[in-house]
Amino acid sequence: MDTGLTVALAGNPNTGKTTLFNSLTGARQHVGNYPGVTVEEKHGMCEHNGERLRVVDLPGTYSLTAYSLEEVVARDFLVQDRPALTIDIVDASNLERNLYLALQLLELGIPIMIALNMMDVAESRGLRIDADRLAELLGVPVVPIVARSGKGRTQLIETAIEAARAGIRPRTFEISYGEDLDSALAAMEEIIIHRAFLTETYPARWTALKYLEADAQILEKGRIAAADISGQLEAIALRTAAHISATLNTYPEALIADHRYGYIHAMMKGVVQREETKDRMYLSDTFDAVLTNRLVGPVIMLLILLGLYKFTFAYSEVPVGWCESMFGYLGDLADRALPDGLLKSLIISGIIDGAGGVLGFVPLIMFMFFGIAILEDTGYLARVAFMLDRVFRMFGLHGSSVMAYIISGGIAGGCAVPGVMAARTLRSPRERLATLLTAPFMNCGAKLPVMALMIAAFFASHEALVMFLLTLLAWAVALLSARLLRSTVIAGASTPFVMELPPYRLPTVKGLLIHTWERTWQYIRKAGTVILAISIVVWAMMTFPQLPAQSLHTYEKLRTEELISAPAAAQELDSAEEDAELSESALQLRQALDAVDRKESEAALRNSIAGRIGTSLEGISRLAGFDWRTNIALVGGFAAKEVIVSTLGTAYSLGEIAPEETGSLPETLASSPGWNPLVAVSLLVFVMFYAPCFVTVVCIAREAGSWKWGAFSIVFNTGLAFAMSVAIYQVGKLFI
Ligand code: GDP
Ligand code: MG
Repeated sequence: MDTGLTVALAGNPNTGKTTLFNSLTGARQHVGNYPGVTVEEKHGMCEHNGERLRVVDLPGTYSLTAYSLEEVVARDFLVQDRPALTIDIVDASNLERNLYLALQLLELGIPIMIALNMMDVAESRGLRIDADRLAELLGVPVVPIVARSGKGRTQLIETAIEAARAGIRPRTFEISYGEDLDSALAAMEEIIIHRAFLTETYPARWTALKYLEADAQILEKGRIAAADISGQLEAIALRTAAHISATLNTYPEALIADHRYGYIHAMMKGVVQREETKDRMYLSDTFDAVLTNRLVGPVIMLLILLGLYKFTFAYSEVPVGWCESMFGYLGDLADRALPDGLLKSLIISGIIDGAGGVLGFVPLIMFMFFGIAILEDTGYLARVAFMLDRVFRMFGLHGSSVMAYIISGGIAGGCAVPGVMAARTLRSPRERLATLLTAPFMNCGAKLPVMALMIAAFFASHEALVMFLLTLLAWAVALLSARLLRSTVIAGASTPFVMELPPYRLPTVKGLLIHTWERTWQYIRKAGTVILAISIVVWAMMTFPQLPAQSLHTYEKLRTEELISAPAAAQELDSAEEDAELSESALQLRQALDAVDRKESEAALRNSIAGRIGTSLEGISRLAGFDWRTNIALVGGFAAKEVIVSTLGTAYSLGEIAPEETGSLPETLASSPGWNPLVAVSLLVFVMFYAPCFVTVVCIAREAGSWKWGAFSIVFNTGLAFAMSVAIYQVGKLFI
């Protein structure tokens, strides 16, 4: 038995690395973080015919420059831990792009082999790949596999064991980067070899290339190792860059990438053959000519978005109504079945109104998710990212920031947590930080119910239009804040970047339904667990401490006085079954009694912990038009924004009217004296932009690598949101 051989898995994201890693290591895996950084480290053992290999899954990267943490981690592992072999997993259906990393691994001078994965996809696209020819050109073993089905697994393991045992170094791999760069590289190499500068760790030509690329990590190491040599190399690099800028109007990094792609492109000619079949790429190109056209494209994009909202609101109206009546019915049922008291209040106000407020929007969210699934599965969302790339650069972001925004709810109904994590794919740390700080401004699934509620209560005749405008507002605020951040707290230059367009696909009904259901279920589960728990806690905060016996007594006395003042009406109220049978005086008495009840519930709510918090904030929140009840909901929203609607539901059912008179929440709000369309807009803006929910803040802190940024997002966002709401409310008041 041999446990000494380590094999690393490298590759672009989404090439099937994890699938292969799982297939090789089975259940024996260990997951942790690389020391000192938040990048995940996974390793496990692979056994084959008594041989054991330790397999390490490196983070997925497109390149080995020092743009992202993943790239630095992968490259440090390769040069410091020196695995016996690195298996580069390459997506055979996307060979040219994937080989970019392979070339860099080869330049690093480490022993590698290629696992040519996704052969099934390549075949279905009519690509014929000559693996032997590729092996010959690269000078390393190449094994075609289908990681998902396990095809080629045995051959891959055997080839890997053989290569790892033999411990061969690949032949020196040199690409020509054109006359200017090549002569600079040669001059630098001479100095590096002569002075043995970093040569224990890196090949000389590689170090020289990194100096040309102005790789921050290598420059730093170099300056520490030998400041004078580093100085000489930096001088050559600067001179070369100036020369290239003057003659070719470009910079070394771009020129290096050009030559690598040129090299790969040339290599492809003998390796890949495309069968002349019905070519999906060709059809895609025709679509793209229209859909991503500079002029027509954005117009179509906006129309599609507006269409999506119209579709959602039009078709979800009826089922949303069913949901509302169902929760109304449940409330009535509980009201009749249970004796008055705390338990009844908990069940009706805490559970049914709380969770019901959130679950009532399930049909709407389901329709929205279905529409988004269509855009995503057809490949149209990738076009949206592509078209917005140019715009995003103007705001100091990247084309791939678009995906982070869309995942966070850029169209509607995402979640900032995966959105913030999606920012990982951004290569420049500054653009990444700007993206993850602004992604929470998008309209995530938790804000949707608040929007739906306000729209239903105050803008019911323009549902789709309001939703559309709110979406545009979210993007505008996110982009402007990004610009602000990028020119203040995270100022610095942008990095170059290429965006890819996958071919269009006809989505399957099954695929659409699965995607829709997965997301809807996530939402329901959250409403049924986290939101329910918070909703009960908030209910308790709104219920305790209860009113002192003395003031309860006062209200009891008021009620008795009303009853005594009209004895006939009191008797009638007591015995009547149907409202229609009541006389005028009996109805008046009922209203008088209800008014007392309302006063009592309101006093009770104000007296509770939550009421006291809400009331103490009222002094400043009034500036934006929020009363103490809304404040309770907004404070609860820090925990999770879904809680806003459920808390409003609870606050208005606890503090306002007796349950049998409660209409749906939108009706209650629309008829409440403290509410009007202006307050609704002010609240919407505040909810859209104030502090991200707690989970997102934790996620931002983790991804940004510091609690400072988590705290920053709470303070910055809340300050910004409040300023906007106050401005809207104060200016709006002048016109109303
Ligand atoms: P990673 O990002 O490199 O770790 O990639 P994953 O292992 O997560 O795989 C990405 C996607 O490709 C998953 O949906 C896999 O099921 C799929 N996949 C992996 N290998 C193959 C393959 O050989 N053929 C096909 N058709 N799909 C694959
Ligand atoms: Mg993976």
